[in-house]
Order: sequence, then C-alpha cells, then structure tokens
Amino acid sequence: MAMRMIDRIKALQERNQKSGVGSFSGGDIFFKFTEGTHHIRLVGEWVTIKSHWIGPSTYNKALLFDEDEFKGENPLKRSVTCSNFDTQTEMTVEHGKETCALCALNEAAFSLLRDKRLSEEQRQSLKDIMSSARPNERYFFLCIDRDNPEIEEGRNGFKIIEFPKSLMEQWSLLVQEHDDTDCISDENGVDWVITKKKDGAKTKYTISYATSGRNIKQTPLTEEELAYERPDIRKIMGKQADMADIYSRMLDEYRDMLDDAGYKPPVSEKEGESQGSGNGQPSASRKAASAPKDDDNFDDENVPF
Ligand SMILES: [Zn+2]
Repeated sequence: MAMRMIDRIKALQERNQKSGVGSFSGGDIFFKFTEGTHHIRLVGEWVTIKSHWIGPSTYNKALLFDEDEFKGENPLKRSVTCSNFDTQTEMTVEHGKETCALCALNEAAFSLLRDKRLSEEQRQSLKDIMSSARPNERYFFLCIDRDNPEIEEGRNGFKIIEFPKSLMEQWSLLVQEHDDTDCISDENGVDWVITKKKDGAKTKYTISYATSGRNIKQTPLTEEELAYERPDIRKIMGKQADMADIYSRMLDEYRDMLDDAGYKPPVSEKEGESQGSGNGQPSASRKAASAPKDDDNFDDENVPF
C-alpha cells in the first residue's frame, strides 16, 4: 500500500515537471521581493510609470469601485496605468489630451475642497477620495536575480524588478554619494544587496553595494548575460488602461462627481485592441511582452506613504 502511494507521488511529480506546474519554483520574468536578502544586478535605465492603485487596500480609504469588480470573469486590475502620463516620454500628455478618469476624479475632489462651507466630515471624505484616486510613480529596472536567475526552467535571463519608492530614494542617494553614474551599465555595473524586512505593519527595504573585501564588487556582464533578451519594460508595464471601462464601473457617486466636473470618457478601445499596439516587434520579444496577469506580481507596498 505504502509503495503504491510513493509511486503515485512520483507519477504526480513527473506530470507536474512536464507541465511546469508546482515543481518549478521561481522562474519568472517578474522579480518578486520576498522577505530576506536579495542579490541583484541592475541593468540599463530605469523606467518610470504612473499608475493608480484602485484595489482594496489598507491605504485606500475611499474605495471607488465595488469590491466585486476586482473578482470574477472580467476583473478590474488593482493597479491602473495612468493614461495622462506618456510612458514613452515619461511626461504628462499635452493639456487637453488628458483621458484619465482617476486623475480627473482627484482634481474634481480637489476643486470641491475649496468650498469654505464644507463640514469637517465632508472635507475629510474629499481628501479620502483624493488619496484613493491620485497617481503614484512606480520605478522598474531590468535585473539579474543572482539568487535565482532563471526566467523559465533551464533558462536564465533578465527580470523586471520594481523598486518601491523608499528603495528608489535610498538607491538614488547611494548612487549620488558615490557619484556612481556607471553603476548599472553593462560594462562597469555592480551588484546590490537588498533586504526586505517586515517591521510591524510596515515593510522596510535597505540597499547597499555588494562588496568584495573592502571594495565595491564590479560585475561586468558576461557574454552569456549580454546575450539575454531585454524585455521592453515600457511596453509590458505601461499598457494603457481602458478608461471608458474604468469610468463605467466606478461607483455612482464618483461617476457623478466626474460628470459634474465635465469629464468625458474616451471611446472604449476594447474592439481591435488586440492588434492595436503591434509595431513590427519580432515574435521572440512578443512572448515576454505580455503583462502580468495581475499586478499582484508586485506588492501593494509600492503604494506610497
Ligand atoms: Zn491618472
């Protein structure tokens, strides 16, 4: 009997291995911070993206959508790329071309706040709406995860890593202190030691240079690493949200606020969207260019404050 069970377990393991389920842990193009220490080689430029965290979270005091909208068949993404921010140029779109319903709501709440007749309670609820609707900057790099460089079973490659704001600030200071403009270049870049630690309700990140003896350890990319495919972060993470859809699913009271403020949703892009952004990218990079299924790949700790 016992033997039979062991055989069954073996068969299960084999099946899982073949289908890539279960047995293979970690291989993913999206780096995920777990608690503890990570050894990371940052590569290339970082990309800034603006997004709105609209999912239920302890930070979101005014949930702008019914919680059920984040579940089920066609769930809302909890993190929505701001359509007022051009990911290619990393600049705000021209005045008059703004389409972001969430930025519009943020502004509508802000202008209502000017009314001096508001009660303290009304003021607070407008402030809550503002904090739930405002955009946040997010920062992404390509990296080699030294602890687990696999992006799929048996294949190493660059991963996309998100730096939470506090980590980005620390890293920027560190680089400034060392006047180290070359620290993420292919030739002269270095490895970093990053630690994630829970401290009560807060999560703390610390970053330092990886060292070798007393010196900063330089880690020029090897031939193999230079040959890794470089995923297009802007394309993968900057995919624009369908603002017409977001507007239509917002709770009535907030949609009314938008209407009163004169917001007009863009025409829904749902039709033809699947072909829309194709601009002759080779199919090899296409494979990597599918956005994560859910922004759960990244912690909601990127929400500031
Ligand atoms: Zn926005």
